[in-house]
Amino acid sequence: MPIYEYKCSDCGHELEALQKMSDDPLTHCPACEKEGLVKQMSAAGFHLKGTGWYATDFKNKKAPEPACGHGGCAAASACAAASS
Ligand SMILES: [Zn+2]
Repeated sequence: MPIYEYKCSDCGHELEALQKMSDDPLTHCPACEKEGLVKQMSAAGFHLKGTGWYATDFKNKKAPEPACGHGGCAAASACAAASS
């Protein structure tokens, strides 16, 4: 079942809801008790399955590398190997 993200246009409250494709979109905001919920286009479930691990991988590998691009890196060969 896909997860849908909703955001209240009235108070800005955000929530995620597990819904069937056939379910009607939610409109009732539990925070302000108004009918202000709007379904967000970016479904969290698909997002996590699709690109989530890429983002995590990128973060884990991310090293301070600005020096490499400016000729000031003491381990230039290692940097070149890592960035190729
Ligand atoms: Zn609200």
